Order: sequence, then C-alpha cells, then structure tokens
Amino acid sequence: MVDFDGFGPEKIIQVYHPKTGMRGVVVIDNTALGPGKGGIRMTPTVDMEEVAKLARAMTWKCALAEIPFGGAKSGIMADSKKLSPVEKKNIVIAFSEALRHVCPEMYVAAPDMYMAEEEMRLFAEANGSMKSVTGKPKDMGGIPHELGSTGFGVFHSTKVAAEHIGLDLEGATFAVEGFGNVGEFAAKFLTEAGAKLVATSDSRGCIYNKDGLDFNKIKETKEKLGSVTNYTRGSVLSNKEIIKVDVDILVTAAIPNLVLAGDVDSVKAKLIVEGSNIPMAPQVEMLLHRKGVMVVPDFVANAGGVISSYIEYIGGTEQEMFKMVEKKLVRNTKLVLESSSKDTTPRDAAMDIAVNRVLKECKICSVDYKKQRHH
Ligand code: NAD
Repeated sequence: MVDFDGFGPEKIIQVYHPKTGMRGVVVIDNTALGPGKGGIRMTPTVDMEEVAKLARAMTWKCALAEIPFGGAKSGIMADSKKLSPVEKKNIVIAFSEALRHVCPEMYVAAPDMYMAEEEMRLFAEANGSMKSVTGKPKDMGGIPHELGSTGFGVFHSTKVAAEHIGLDLEGATFAVEGFGNVGEFAAKFLTEAGAKLVATSDSRGCIYNKDGLDFNKIKETKEKLGSVTNYTRGSVLSNKEIIKVDVDILVTAAIPNLVLAGDVDSVKAKLIVEGSNIPMAPQVEMLLHRKGVMVVPDFVANAGGVISSYIEYIGGTEQEMFKMVEKKLVRNTKLVLESSSKDTTPRDAAMDIAVNRVLKECKICSVDYKKQRHH
C-alpha cells in the first residue's frame, strides 16, 4: 500500500501494453515546485510502494537543491537481462508512448537501474519532446554521467563540511567506499584539494595504506585489472572494514545500509559525507551525531546528478552544469549544517528546509509535517 499524506502522491499511473508485455508504474509525488523529476527503474521486483518511496525522496532532493522540479519516479517490471535488445527497446517505446499525456508537463524521466542513455533516446523520440527526459546521449543535448557531476558535488559538500568542523582539507585523510562513478570523482577532487586518500573499496574488497594511495594508479588498477584490491601498495581488507579505518573523512559511494547501529563505536572518521543513497538509517545518523561525528545526508551531498539533469533540461552547457553544482552544493550544505544543532541532526535540518520550501509553494498540501517526520 502506498502511504498518502499531505504532500501526495498527486498521481499514480499504472500502464500496461499487452503486445510487448510492458507493465509499469509512475508515481508523481508532488509538483508544487515544478514537474516531477525521477528516473525509470527496470527490475523484475519493482512495485508501486518502492516507486512511491523513491518519488518522495526526489521531492525533498529537488526542493533542497532549489531546482524547479517536483518529485516522481517510474518502475518497469521486467528482467532486463532476460530481454532481447528488441524486446527491451519495444518496452521502453511503449512505456514512453503511454506517458505522452504527462511528459514533460508533470513528469520528466531519467535513467535509473538498467536504463542508460540509449533508452533515454528512445524515450524522447517516442514521447515526441526533448524535455520529456534527461540523461540523453550527447548528440541529443545530453550531459553525460561520465563528467562526474555527482562526485564533483560530493567534493564541494565535503569541503564545506570540513570547514564547518574546523578541519583543513589540505593534509586531511579520507576513505571512499565504492570506487565507481560517484566515488572516483569525489576521490579525484579531494586529492586535487590536497587531502590524502588512504582507503577505497569496490565490490571485491577494500585497499588501505595509512601512508596514502596514489589516486591515478588506483584508477588505472581499477580500469585495467577490474578491482582496486589489485593495487599492490597497500593491504587488502574486507569491504565492510572501510568504515573502521582511521581517517578524518569517510565518503560513502556504494551500498545502502553500510553503517549499522552496532558499527557506530568503531567509526573513527570525524566527518561522513553520504555520496550514496541511504548508507545508514536516520537512527544511525543520530547515534553518530551524538558521538560528535558530522554526517552530511545523501539528499544534500549527492544532488549534483539531479542539478546536472536540470541543466540538460534547460539546454545548458557542461560549464554551466559545473558552475551550478558548485554554487548549489556549497550554499545548501552550509545552510543545512548551520541549521543543525545538538538535538537536530543535519538530516532533520535538511528535511525542515526542504519541507518548508515545498509547503511555501504548494497549493494542495495540507499537513503539519512535524507531526509525521518524513523518515
Ligand atoms: P557505480 O555503479 O558507478 O559504482 C558503484 C561502485 O561501488 C562500484 O565500483 C562497485 O564495485 C562498488 N561496490 C559495489 N558493492 C560494493 C560493496 N559492497 N562495497 C564497496 N563497494 C562496492 O554507481 P554510482 O553511480 O557511483 O552510484 C553509487 C551510489 O551513489 C549509489 O547509491 C547511487 O544510488 C548513488 N547516487 C549516484 C548518483 C550518480 O549520479 N551516479 C547520483 C546520486 C546518488
């Protein structure tokens, strides 16, 4: 069951196309600030509840990033690995055609799991509007993922948070969980700012050297040998051990629920920046907050991707994207950290800001949100 509350969801659309077998759902959570923005996830298990939760998360993320988008999300119930390229193509086209009446006025799509730029090309063509979707290929005005907008934003968020706790980035040590798109770029920009990478991980494990890892060699090792653990100048740990490493800063950039309540005592970092989505539950963030560890929440720190989508949507350039990601991440991270206090975690402070921004513009919302904290 989807939980309806004073914010939405405003619209839930279930679509079915018998000829291709396409079954999908779109949840448009709240459009007070603009058309609902959110990716299309193709998995065999995706359902309305999952899509609704993700759509709500997008409402807060876009509000906090101060971009004129609301929150939405889509799911297509299919196993991408079992589909032939033609079957997948026909499903994406059928899905897009079924959403012509809401895109782009109420919904702007994007890639999520098992969706990439070629599917976004098909979506835009079948929908008939270039504004119906972001994450399109470059030749269609897309801004590629490979530019690292999210990692770039994570870096700026980290920089602001470090200043906030009086930590000089120059010479500070850091670890990055997940050397993928987000993690690699966060590590690159932090290294360039003079911080020392001492640990990083991927699905095969963690590599650690207290004297520092060479960023370029780690990148080369990952590209050529498939895993950061093949880097020879360091010790290999299990991937979970990255949270116990002695560092000033931990950037998360891979899995959900990385840090559990039982791990809090062994965390040594003074600052954790959530590049990944939901790397820990809000209750764990509260425990870390009480311990004196600053945690910059996911929807604040990893908003670079959705800001980049917005720049693509308005037809902007790569340079404009980097400029806007920096400006917004710096401003919003500062605002959130300054609004947090002994009893208010940065997540609670960020939620208050996002919720108030939506409420200010929302003509249909009807809620005293404080009665039902949204996490
Ligand atoms: P990615 O697939 O490019 O990289 C993920 C990395 O994590 C890979 O190197 C993988 O080997 C590693 N990994 C997998 N399991 C691991 C484990 N158990 N321990 C350590 N590392 C592991 O993905 P990405 O795009 O970098 O996304 C990472 C996270 O950031 C996800 O939570 C995603 O939802 C979130 N996020 C990404 C973006 C974006 O623009 N890419 C935007 C917002 C949020």
